Amino acid sequence: MEPLSGSCHCGAVQFEVDGPFLNLSFCHCTTCKKISGGIGTANGRARTDAIRVTSGAEALRTYQPDEGSAKTFCSLCGSNLFGGGWPESEHASVRLSAIDSEFDQRPQAHIFVRSLAPWARLPDDGLERYEIRASS
Ligand SMILES: [Zn+2]
Ligand SMILES: [Zn+2]
Repeated sequence: MEPLSGSCHCGAVQFEVDGPFLNLSFCHCTTCKKISGGIGTANGRARTDAIRVTSGAEALRTYQPDEGSAKTFCSLCGSNLFGGGWPESEHASVRLSAIDSEFDQRPQAHIFVRSLAPWARLPDDGLERYEIRASS
């Protein structure tokens, strides 16, 4: 499989990820809800060493919330790119919204549904739902 390519909205940050993703999920945690502009983030789990920033590394900023893992975004356009503690952690989350390549994996679960916004409703998609995360 060719590496997947990804970018932020303004194009300053370009990256590649070696696929396939280990798993895919939607995250509705408090932080993802705030930073997503919607009901949460869509994520592909990858080994951190499978992610290569090919341009614009200097535009990246990492935010460490009081609870949960660090989130990384483009400081020029605000696009949310990586979570799960990237680049310090062994595994990281790649926001699927940043992936430009076609790929055929689809999310299998909604996680942190305990934090779902009161105005949000999960789609009737038949996916697993976890209060926090799947224990694995
Ligand atoms: Zn950008
Ligand atoms: Zn989250």
